[in-house]
Amino acid sequence: MSSYKLRIDMIACEGHGICAETFPERISLDDWGYPIIDPKPFDGVRRDHAKRAVEMCPELALRLERVARQR
Ligand code: SF4
Repeated sequence: MSSYKLRIDMIACEGHGICAETFPERISLDDWGYPIIDPKPFDGVRRDHAKRAVEMCPELALRLERVARQR
């Protein structure tokens, strides 16, 4: 089974905050409304939430990346 991480393009991000509402397990917002992503890998239902956050970002600023599992 794979693990995943979210990457953000901070140049493209406009701080809408939709991602933090869609994937609150890993995304919070700073004082200006820009996302802070928890770097811990995830899988399972969290991957589904992350995928939805990627799809809903109006600026296409989020990317879901597969990462090697740490042993
Ligand atoms: S939804 Fe997209 S544009 Fe909006 S804060 Fe999140 S990453 Fe940035």
